[in-house]
Amino acid sequence: MIMDCEKYTGQCACGRVHTLETRKVVVAEKELENFEAYMEELGLTGRRTVVYDQITWKLTEGQHVKADQNIILDPNGLRAEDVQIEKMMEELDHPEVIVAVGAGTIMDFGRYPAYKLGIPFVAIPTLASSDGFTANICSAIINGQKKSTPMCAPVLVVADLDIIKGAPQRLVSSGINDILAKYISLTDWRISKLVADEYYCDMVANLAEHALKLMRDAADKYADTGVADHEAMTMAQMESGLTMQLLDHSRAASGAEHLMAHLVEMHPPRFEKAEGIHGECVGVGTFQCIREYHKLAARKPKAKPFTPLTEEWVLEKFGERLAPGVMKENEKDVLGTFDSQNIVDHWDEIKAMLDALPSVEEMEDLYKRCGCKYLPEHIGIDPALADEMLDISAAIRNRNTLVRMKRVLDFT
Ligand SMILES: [Zn+2]
Ligand SMILES: [Zn+2]
Repeated sequence: MIMDCEKYTGQCACGRVHTLETRKVVVAEKELENFEAYMEELGLTGRRTVVYDQITWKLTEGQHVKADQNIILDPNGLRAEDVQIEKMMEELDHPEVIVAVGAGTIMDFGRYPAYKLGIPFVAIPTLASSDGFTANICSAIINGQKKSTPMCAPVLVVADLDIIKGAPQRLVSSGINDILAKYISLTDWRISKLVADEYYCDMVANLAEHALKLMRDAADKYADTGVADHEAMTMAQMESGLTMQLLDHSRAASGAEHLMAHLVEMHPPRFEKAEGIHGECVGVGTFQCIREYHKLAARKPKAKPFTPLTEEWVLEKFGERLAPGVMKENEKDVLGTFDSQNIVDHWDEIKAMLDALPSVEEMEDLYKRCGCKYLPEHIGIDPALADEMLDISAAIRNRNTLVRMKRVLDFT
């Protein structure tokens, strides 16, 4: 599959002009053989540094792409962190293009220097278990803080399925989770458009929906046969990542469910033992949201006036270390920017969206058969915290989700 990125760019019916740094995404077997042709086609002909770690160097043995300089990093203790990346940058021998061969960490070792040097970046993913490859976001630790930082996206992505199909089951399952999250993220975005008049783009939402459909079909097949359709799964990740570039934020790809991954990374009190890879945490968030959203759909709320989060609550849930950051994030609470009565007035439409979500039983069955993590105890969270964890995680990011909107609704 070759994705023609151009068709998504330009003036859009939503009123914006969408742009993409990514010009071509190729997902197919034996594609590394054609790598030079794609580089040439896109005019990426300058001096080239290719970054690997020892694992991806070995994994691609016999297929290493041409390079003026190869950098092969020691995977031991390797972390996507500005200090480490800048140390590697001292070795760079005047590249005009940087190619990164690997998964998330190595991508940041290519993306960050390319961004700093203002040169193009090319990605050769060796795994496709998340949608970060085609996003214009870097998830490296910068100034000691782990957060998504806007950065460049790859001009070209060449995903060779002969390499990607070697992914272990855990990462396949995690990748499924990251895309099934769009059941919730798209619902949150659509509800917010309805009640808070948030910017919304049909074209981008449809692209995210398409990624979801590709992954859902592949997950059903995987559940039935145990055979992973890596082409469809990888393409779903690539499409999801592109939505972030098109919007310049992650709205289409990440809603209330993704905040569970942030919660796990932050380790607030009572969540100290939480641990899981990105997709796994997101899967737990998605399943809990599916549960919650069906429950809410069965009731009719009344509007409550907006009140800001109290310092007391934030301190209790997040502890002294994290509370100041959470308070700051909520300074301009999105819930205070629209009338909560709007939610009640649109409840029939919202209910229809929630009713259209897959049922709890359907999701649980699919998760089980795909080997996905989906319950709090799967990622080291006490099941007794299940009812609370969504409300806590909703405070991490000032984004309008149905979970956050519960604060201005009375369901009794
Ligand atoms: Zn648009
Ligand atoms: Zn994700």
